Amino acid sequence: MSHFEIVKKSKTSKARAGILHTPHGPIETPVFMPVGTQGTVKSLTPQHLHDINAQIILSNTYHLALRPGSKLIKEAGGLHKWIAWPKPILTDSGGFQVFSLSKMRKITDTGVTFQSHIDGSKHLFTPKSVIDFQHDFGTDIMMPLDICTPYPATEEETARDLAITTQWETEAAEYWRSLNTPQLLFAIVQGGMYPHLRDRSVEALIKLDLPGYAIGGVSVGEPIDKMYPIIAHTTPQLPENKPRYLMGVGLPENLEYAIAQGVDMFDCVLPTRLARHGQLFTTTGKLTIKNEQFKTDPLPIDPLCQCYTCTHFSRSYLRHLFMAKELLAMTLLSLHNVHYLIQFVQKIRDDILAS
Ligand SMILES: [Zn+2]
Repeated sequence: MSHFEIVKKSKTSKARAGILHTPHGPIETPVFMPVGTQGTVKSLTPQHLHDINAQIILSNTYHLALRPGSKLIKEAGGLHKWIAWPKPILTDSGGFQVFSLSKMRKITDTGVTFQSHIDGSKHLFTPKSVIDFQHDFGTDIMMPLDICTPYPATEEETARDLAITTQWETEAAEYWRSLNTPQLLFAIVQGGMYPHLRDRSVEALIKLDLPGYAIGGVSVGEPIDKMYPIIAHTTPQLPENKPRYLMGVGLPENLEYAIAQGVDMFDCVLPTRLARHGQLFTTTGKLTIKNEQFKTDPLPIDPLCQCYTCTHFSRSYLRHLFMAKELLAMTLLSLHNVHYLIQFVQKIRDDILAS
């Protein structure tokens, strides 16, 4: 059964407008997915997210499996009920966090043993256990355990990581099939900055015939002139009739580029992280709210923005909140940045439909 329909292909690029059907409803693509690592998009309520047309949010298996644990969430009625978010949820596998956060880790063919960054306790994540966690959460889109090769990495290191990742993903796909769940499982293409390794990854993963395909291992510190060729090389090789998800990329200009290459889904912590540092997206470029020039400025962050923050508050007041380290600053600034990216992608979708 196909979960994805392409509604319109752009006449001027490889961009597509589509609809992805999930257990908790349809998602119009291209789509930007706000990140709620710990089961919350930092400083925003589900109502805020609903009001700015967030269609789906991300959460993180590593964090939720370590604290509070997947069984607690399952017994509370699943992640949607527990966090009061009735729309789709995608959970990242946590592979990235195992490698970036844990103090100690040891990879074997079976999985990865690591020490929790919270209390130092020892854990083993396997391709199967990571699916079990996400099955307990009841998330709409699951991601398999993988190794996100850091940048820079040698060809040898990248090939070694890829071989393990491919094996893990094959095990995850088999196990997911055996569960016969309506939850979707996506594959993750790895292979670092080496086009022929990306090819090897794509070739192996296409055989798994999963409901969606992600490009992982980009936005890991590499320069843009390394990232773009990998996106341009990999995206057109992914199945045409499946959603394509570019992991961890979220600057407006990057989204625009990737959509034109045929990418459908994006997530990034940047809009909320930048907001907490007073950095805001606007139609005329980035704005730093703490700058002295905004002290008495009566204008909104972006006069063209229709978000709650921009329709109610001046730069002057927002700067005051930020300088006084008031919690409301985090909420109002995050609301604007997340709204900005959602609208930015929605506008591109409208343009594809009108092309
Ligand atoms: Zn705004």
